[in-house]
Amino acid sequence: MDYSKARHRMVDQHISGRGISDPLVLAAMKKVERDKFVPALFRDQAYSDRPLPIECQQTISQPYMVALMTEALRLKGDEHVLEVGTGSGYAAAVLAEIVDKVITIEYIEQLADHARSVLEELKYDNITVVTGDGSKGCAEFAPYDAIVVTAGGPEVPQSLRNQLKIGGRLVIPVGRAETIQMLVRVTRLGPEKFSEENLCGVRFVPLVGEEGWNHSQHENWSDPHL
Ligand code: SAM
Repeated sequence: MDYSKARHRMVDQHISGRGISDPLVLAAMKKVERDKFVPALFRDQAYSDRPLPIECQQTISQPYMVALMTEALRLKGDEHVLEVGTGSGYAAAVLAEIVDKVITIEYIEQLADHARSVLEELKYDNITVVTGDGSKGCAEFAPYDAIVVTAGGPEVPQSLRNQLKIGGRLVIPVGRAETIQMLVRVTRLGPEKFSEENLCGVRFVPLVGEEGWNHSQHENWSDPHL
């Protein structure tokens, strides 16, 4: 089935229609086939502007949220970017349409393997999918011009700050998941100098791992939906 009309309509109505204006982001969202990243059961909903379930009780984020976070990274096109929380691989593909190189790291091996094969099939040769704890970043490929985290942590991980280049931007949801999280942009101004801006309230699945939540801290969380 050809979903390109549905995809263009979604971008016009829900992405630019809700205030996203970066032409690089809009072009990428018009190009990436979200239906290829969504489980077959939900394929007919791929271009409704909603998060959807994927394997392992995780989610593919709402397209508007992917666009908002990507725009917030202020990309120009020649960057080296880290995404924490590969999930389906969709947001990594959006980033890969814009920048030179994307490293994406996923905690759950089954999801990382699945995303890697979908991205290979779609011929994204500028994405490297890593399995591991991205709350500590991905030191092997650091430093990064931009880092985006698609899961909510209790605070901004120090490792992620350290892996930003000077001038680099980090966008991450921070806060308790049972209340609302704040989407925060951290900019590295100097070796030890960072600025922080609150962008908007969001609700994401938990960032687990060494610099995220441990299981006892998030076992009572309910209905994370981004
Ligand atoms: N960006 C994804 C997409 O486009 O489909 C959506 C990601 S989903 C909302 C959040 C993902 O973060 C989940 O797949 C979850 O397993 C992953 N995650 C949580 N903690 C993580 C960690 N410490 N390191 C890497 N991935 C993590």
